[in-house]
Amino acid sequence: MTLQARSVDRVLPDGFVARLATVLDPAGLITDPSDRASYLIEERSLFESRAEVVVAPKTAEELAATVRLCAEAGVPLVPQGGATGLVGGAVAGTGDVLVSLKRMNRILDVDPVNFTISAEAGCVLADLQEAAREAGCLFPLSLGAEGSCTIGGNIASNAGGVGVLRYGNTRELTLGLEVVLPDGRIWNGMRPLYKDNSGYSLKNLFIGSEGTLGIVTAAVMKLFPQPQQRETAFCALGSVEDALALLSLARRLSGDGVSAFELMSDFSLDIVCKHTEGRRPYDTQAPWHALIELTTSRPGDDLRRCFESILEAAFEQGLVLDGVVAESEDQAGRLWQLREATPEAQKRAGGSIKHDVSVPVSRIPEFIATASAAVMERMPGVHVCAFGHVGDGNVHYNLTQPDDMDKAAFLARWGEMNAIVHEVVRTIGGSISAEHGVGLLKLQELADFRSDVENDLMRSLKRALDPDNRMNAGKLVAI
Ligand code: FAD
Repeated sequence: MTLQARSVDRVLPDGFVARLATVLDPAGLITDPSDRASYLIEERSLFESRAEVVVAPKTAEELAATVRLCAEAGVPLVPQGGATGLVGGAVAGTGDVLVSLKRMNRILDVDPVNFTISAEAGCVLADLQEAAREAGCLFPLSLGAEGSCTIGGNIASNAGGVGVLRYGNTRELTLGLEVVLPDGRIWNGMRPLYKDNSGYSLKNLFIGSEGTLGIVTAAVMKLFPQPQQRETAFCALGSVEDALALLSLARRLSGDGVSAFELMSDFSLDIVCKHTEGRRPYDTQAPWHALIELTTSRPGDDLRRCFESILEAAFEQGLVLDGVVAESEDQAGRLWQLREATPEAQKRAGGSIKHDVSVPVSRIPEFIATASAAVMERMPGVHVCAFGHVGDGNVHYNLTQPDDMDKAAFLARWGEMNAIVHEVVRTIGGSISAEHGVGLLKLQELADFRSDVENDLMRSLKRALDPDNRMNAGKLVAI
């Protein structure tokens, strides 16, 4: 079954496309079916997008004029960046105007003294990283989709990625925004300020709002000094508790220099080695493994020595069973590949039921143990493929089909297994949407998960900013 946008059966008013043509340049109005097909692709085929009109404005003013026309005609809008989101947030129905930010992709300013970069919302994340690098700075947001996702989409879904432990998620990296509001006004909040105590934090309303309150057109983001040294290690561990103790030790002994700490279950490493080109970095068998990266921006630091002393202390305390520290960038890349190939390996290993959850870091062992006991009791033989950015509490707690079960029969039990895992998350105070967002996929589930007060506040905010419910309606929050 595919999920569809709310306005799937509606049609646009007569003459509306002609009115759009008065405010957009010809390249910004896409109605030809073959030209708009690429905007409707959804990789996992979980959602169906059927927009008959795609607009791709070149400026915030053009977008604002488009939004005003939509407001006058009561036409809903769906913003879209790189369309890499996995929860159906950017899919549109026949009655929607799909707004692509792809043509608004300029870097506006890089300020290496203020440590800020400003860019239009359609700028691809990798291009933003590159512009920062050219100025001798680091833009630390980094995730698997960085070659195609946009900074506007990252802001709308408050993306995290591998650097959250050290630098925070997109919310922490955002200083200022420009947004086209549902009535077509432009809010210019492009302030490159680290301190701004002037009342409500308006930018924070739009960060993580998945395009339901307005369309982000530009942003000012924080930069950091480029790391001067980077060291990467892969370690065999006896338990998740040991992984957390190692993380804590590494943070303390490195002066908080841990820039990534990724946990992998042995099953995850096993399928990576079976189904991709990955090779185990050591012969020691262990139930858990961790990839650790330390960085420093101080040129004189002996990071290698620091890493070795952390591992020596960890061996002495019995936290680490075996480990390798990469001898070259190539080797570091191969260690990272073990972690990054996990989603692909999972696809090749059979059906997967996924959970994008987070819990307090200190409760990860309890979460994994309790959830694993519960799912195995309900489905004997199921494989727990847990991995992820454990340094920030975000575990990709995925399940791979039992060896003797048919894939379709396994996937038919997605909801049942989700309910079991999410109940464990609820009891230990976690979140069932840690980084991929809510979109269409988790709309109802999240409403059931949140308290009445939270649901009420969410709906009040939506009604206040978008009283006609036209901005990405039916996603994230239903009113
Ligand atoms: P889209 O997919 O186009 O849109 C996403 C949502 O944002 C939609 O609701 C859309 O309506 C809205 N939107 C888009 N642009 C705007 C705008 N300018 N203004 C308002 N609303 C807008 N996430 C993590 O946090 N951590 C990870 O480690 C991570 N890894 C990933 C790895 C892969 C391989 C993939 C495919 C995704 C991963 N993600 C991860 C999810 C990722 O954060 C999102 O896919 C990405 O941020 C969305 O950006 P996009 O430009 O593709 O937005």
